[in-house]
Amino acid sequence: MTLNVLIWHEHRHEKKNKIVASIYPDGMHGALKNAFKGHDDFKVDHALLDDDAEHGLSQKRLDETDVLLWWGHVAHGEVKDEIVERVAKRVWEGMGLIVLHSGHFSKIFKRLMGTPCALKWREAGENERIWVLNRNHPIAAGLPDQILIEHEEMYGEPFSIPEPMETVFISWFEGGEVFRSGVTYQRGAGKIFYFRPGHEAYPTFHNAQVLQVIRNATRWAHNPAKAWTGIHDAPNVPHDKAPVPLEIKGPSLHAYGEEGFR
Ligand code: ZN
Repeated sequence: MTLNVLIWHEHRHEKKNKIVASIYPDGMHGALKNAFKGHDDFKVDHALLDDDAEHGLSQKRLDETDVLLWWGHVAHGEVKDEIVERVAKRVWEGMGLIVLHSGHFSKIFKRLMGTPCALKWREAGENERIWVLNRNHPIAAGLPDQILIEHEEMYGEPFSIPEPMETVFISWFEGGEVFRSGVTYQRGAGKIFYFRPGHEAYPTFHNAQVLQVIRNATRWAHNPAKAWTGIHDAPNVPHDKAPVPLEIKGPSLHAYGEEGFR
């Protein structure tokens, strides 16, 4: 079975900042593709913010995507609300979503979490130790007890997310803060994983263990079932169409079979 992966990237820092361009000459999306290199069960493509009027996220493309990866930062506000809603619907229908690093403030992550998703931060190139909390979780498969990243941006608690379904990783930073850096959610039929590392000024997406987490998470987020397109429907089931047909016993606001308000 082939798993269709789409890497969405705003692709702005590489164009404007020489440091980022030198670390990621093929763009961060190019580095992220290496997570799947040599693994034949993935078919990987990318979509960029400036690709077209739909940010490379047409309905057709999303319908063909099993798992969407998301990296955004400076241009969260440029992502059109109608595209955000389209992505959210696909997640509810069963598409997996992996949100990376500064994607915590993306419209799509906030839409699906329903909370501010705010955090503390500091750009000092300090050590990050990503501790594996759940040895047996598929997202942690093949990893040592901790991933050590020499230079990273600090993200600190409190991270105003809803209580996760599972917390797979916690990060410790040299300056003393800690952060829930790998958390899972389910929204509708879709599985979501937020993964913290990946600041643009450091070569984090060249780290083989970080890429392994992303590959593991992509497999984990894949829902092999047919898209649950009916998840948005709210049908009015008239009395005579009930599983056990009824006689009407009380007054009704709505006409027979009429659609409800939404
Ligand atoms: Zn950052």
